[in-house]
Amino acid sequence: MNRKIVHIEDYKKFVGMETVERVKEKAKLLQGLRVAHVNSTFYGGGVVEILSPLVLLMNSVGINTEWRVIQGSPDFFGVTKKMHNALQGGKINLGKRKKQIYEDVVYQNAIRNHLDHDIVVIHDPQPLPMINHYRKKGPWVWRCHVDLSHPNPVLWEYLKPFIEKYDAAVFSLKEYAKPLKIPQVFIMPAIDPFCIKNKRLTEREVKERLEHYEIPTHRPLVVQISRFDRWKDPLGVIRAFKIASKKIDATLVLLGNIAIDDPEGEKVYDSLLEARSEKIVIISREDTALVNALQSRAAVVLQKSIREGFGLTVAEAMWKGTAVIGGNVGGIRYQIEDGVNGFLVSSVKQASERIVQLVKDEKLRHSMGERARETVKKKFLIIHSLEKYLDFFNAFETNYKLNCSVLEDSYLEQSCSN
Ligand code: UDP
Repeated sequence: MNRKIVHIEDYKKFVGMETVERVKEKAKLLQGLRVAHVNSTFYGGGVVEILSPLVLLMNSVGINTEWRVIQGSPDFFGVTKKMHNALQGGKINLGKRKKQIYEDVVYQNAIRNHLDHDIVVIHDPQPLPMINHYRKKGPWVWRCHVDLSHPNPVLWEYLKPFIEKYDAAVFSLKEYAKPLKIPQVFIMPAIDPFCIKNKRLTEREVKERLEHYEIPTHRPLVVQISRFDRWKDPLGVIRAFKIASKKIDATLVLLGNIAIDDPEGEKVYDSLLEARSEKIVIISREDTALVNALQSRAAVVLQKSIREGFGLTVAEAMWKGTAVIGGNVGGIRYQIEDGVNGFLVSSVKQASERIVQLVKDEKLRHSMGERARETVKKKFLIIHSLEKYLDFFNAFETNYKLNCSVLEDSYLEQSCSN
C-alpha cells in the first residue's frame, strides 16, 4: 500500500502558494538539522495534537525531527499534575518527597534518552529538569504550553533555576512572559486541517458517528469537548446549560478523555455523572471522528475554561465554521474576537445568555462561524506554527545564543536580549 504523509505543498489549498513557498525557503537554511521534541505523553491533551502533525511536517521539509516521550510512575504524574495545576495558579505543597520523585524520574529518563541533537525542545514542566543531565550539543529550548498568567510563586521559584539553564523559553502568549535571564519567544499553537479530527466530514459520516454513540440530534446540540479537568469548568458548563434550558430546547454533550499523564481526570469525570439526564449526555471515549462530528454538527461549541494556555478545541470548532463561546481567559482571548467570530464569557450567567442567543439565531451562528473559519485559516493552522519554529531555529547563532534582532516583534517581548 502506498503510504503518504502530509507535505507542505498540501497546504496550498488553504494558505496559498506564496505562504508555502516562503516557508520552504526558510526551511532550506535548516536542511539536515537534527531536532528532538520531548514531552510526557503520546496520548491525550493539546501538546500531542500539536506534536503529531508538527513533527511529521518538520521532517517533510528536511529537518530530521524526533519525538521522545518520557516515562513515569503514577507517583511522578501525580506530582507533575499538581505542578501543572500550580503553574496555572493552583496550590501545591511542594515538599522534599515530591521534588525527589520529580527529579529522580526525570534523571532516569535522561539516562535512557541520548539527546545529542542540534536543537532540543522540551515541552512543559514534566521533563524540564532533563537539561541538568546533558552536555549540550546545541540550543535547548523550554516550550511551555500552560496558562502562565498566575503561576504559584513557590513552584515558580523552584522551577526557575531549571528554566534558566535553557537557551530560550517559548510561551504561547506575550502576557505569559516572566522575569527570566533567558530570551523569551512567543508562538501560538495551531491545528492540523488534514487529520480525521479536522477534515471535512460528509453529512452521512457525521450522522453515522452521532448515531453510533446514540447522541440525540432532534434538538440543537450544545457541546464541550475537553479533558476532564477542573480548569475546563465542566460543572460551569452544566450549570450554564441548565439555566439556558429554561429558554431553549437543546441537548448538552460533554465529551472528554483522560490523558495518561493526568491522574485527576477520573475523579472529575465521576463528579459529573450525577448530572446525566435525557438532555445532558456525558461521554468518555477516545474517538477523533466523534470529536469532528460533534464540532461540525453543534449549534454551539463551548470552551468555558477558567485557565487556558491556548484552546485547541476552540480552533478546531472554529475551523468547522461553528459558533464558539469561550472563557475570557488566556489564549482563548486571542482566538476569539468577542462578538465577531465567537463570544467570550466570564461567568456562568453570561455563558447561559450566549447559549440562548446562539441557539435561537441561526443567521448569527453562520456569520460568526464563517469568520471563525477565516481566522483559523489565517493564523492557526500547523503551517503557521511551523513557520514560526523555522524563524526561531534560524535565529540561533553558532554559540547557541538567540539573535533576537532577526526575529519580528510578534515573537518577542522587550526583555529578549543577548
Ligand atoms: N480531545 C479529544 N478527545 C476528547 C477531549 C479532547 O480528542 O475527548 C482533544 C481536543 O480535540 C484537542 C485536545 O484534545 O485537540 C485538547 O487540547 P486543548 O488545547 O483544547 O486542551 P489541553 O488538553 O491541551 O489542555
